[in-house]
Amino acid sequence: MQKPKPQWVSNPEELRAELSRRPPGEIGDIKKRLRRKASADIDRRVAEIGPKIEAAIDCKACGACCKVLEPQLSSEDVKRLARLESKTKEEFLEARTNSLENGTLFLKATPCRYLCGNSCSIYAQRPESCADFPHLYRAHFMFRRLTWEHYTLCPIVFNVIEQLLSDVPSND
Ligand code: SF4
Ligand code: SF4
Repeated sequence: MQKPKPQWVSNPEELRAELSRRPPGEIGDIKKRLRRKASADIDRRVAEIGPKIEAAIDCKACGACCKVLEPQLSSEDVKRLARLESKTKEEFLEARTNSLENGTLFLKATPCRYLCGNSCSIYAQRPESCADFPHLYRAHFMFRRLTWEHYTLCPIVFNVIEQLLSDVPSND
């Protein structure tokens, strides 16, 4: 028998509507179900399905992550963005970044100052962590805390998890 097609969403509004229909505590049940598979098998499957799902979602029409997350900045990002704003590195650090005690830097303030409508106004020069978002291909996809934070935010992550679930039988 053909497997039922997973319920994919294509934008933040559809994601919110779909989540509102889901039972409370659903994430715990999803994690339990996916734990039946080895982490490396999940990562291999994410590598297979991720590109197709990313290609089906228009990030330029979404921007949900840019409204609520402060992206991490590398030293190259700082140099590039400071140049873009005609600031010295020091001026840029002071005006535009937050930092942790360990020196990790983040772009300050949400929504992101470079967001224009739902699109990034500096797309070609955006920080490396923005270009990599939603970090599908980092190891241990299903054991990363951020995966589950992004599940309710990012249509791509939601769809990847829906597709993974369709591979795992639901009966206990
Ligand atoms: S730099 Fe661009 S991609 Fe990154 S958070 Fe800001 S608007 Fe979004
Ligand atoms: S990465 Fe996810 S949350 Fe960010 S713009 Fe793309 S679909 Fe939206």
